[in-house]
Amino acid sequence: MRTAAPTTVEESAFRLTLSPSRASDFMTCPLLYRFRTIDRLPERPSPEATRGTVVHAVLERLFDLPPAERTPEQAVALLYPQWEELLEVEPEVATLFEDDTDGTALRGWLASAEELVRRYFSLEDPTRLEPAERELYVETTLDSGLCLRGYVDRLDRAPGTGALRVVDYKTGNAPREGFEQRAMFQMRFYALVLWRLHGQVPKLLQLIYLGSGEILRYEPDEADLRATERKLAALWRAIERAVESGDWRPKPTRMCDWCNHKALCPAYGGTPPPLPENAGPGNGTDEAPSPRMSPVDA
Ligand code: SF4
Repeated sequence: MRTAAPTTVEESAFRLTLSPSRASDFMTCPLLYRFRTIDRLPERPSPEATRGTVVHAVLERLFDLPPAERTPEQAVALLYPQWEELLEVEPEVATLFEDDTDGTALRGWLASAEELVRRYFSLEDPTRLEPAERELYVETTLDSGLCLRGYVDRLDRAPGTGALRVVDYKTGNAPREGFEQRAMFQMRFYALVLWRLHGQVPKLLQLIYLGSGEILRYEPDEADLRATERKLAALWRAIERAVESGDWRPKPTRMCDWCNHKALCPAYGGTPPPLPENAGPGNGTDEAPSPRMSPVDA
């Protein structure tokens, strides 16, 4: 199961740090970014996001088994232990089922997770795979001083050529036609970090959608990754401008229905709390092992 990003002394001070999730937050809604990264407001767990965390943990643990034992049944057998492990690490997820006196809701939720785990086997054959890394924490600092970091679900290295394939699991559905590039942003982010770390552009970026049973693939090149770097630099400048001006505009979309902070949002009649003193972005471990934040993240 995903563990907290390494903590350093620098994290207690202002630090230019960006992860795919927080970059995506700012692009989705600057005020959401503020609530999550600067105010660091707590968020209640959601069944979808928590299911995503458990399914990811199962797919990570599956590769601990010898290849011949990586069967759907073995994977399903990992579900409940991973749920119990999550309860230990994140006790607040128990609130999801606090009114579930007869266990019906929990059984239904586990059944939906089982469906996703079983669907994985229709998309890949894990007996033929030997990942180089799973839940890999990656971090690099660009020339601009901006630190990029995040977790890669799986990294495969081709025998012989050493070509890298970056794999990410999503428990939702594949994006509609025309929205694939947006979905690939996170993967380009990881590809850029890996390129900077190892001097090798990953050969393939692969998003596995367990909800709809589809795979999205993309072969990046250096020009792509340079463009991603420019985009991230521009994004960071926009974040810095918001920090300086205090102008964190809400950007209402359909996603607001999943936003934990709607009651504080001016777009819905709310009032944000005062900004914390010495507020600055990126001074936290935004990739901590909390359940994924919304069906989109999952
Ligand atoms: S409710 Fe919508 S507009 Fe308001 S902060 Fe949340 S995501 Fe942004």
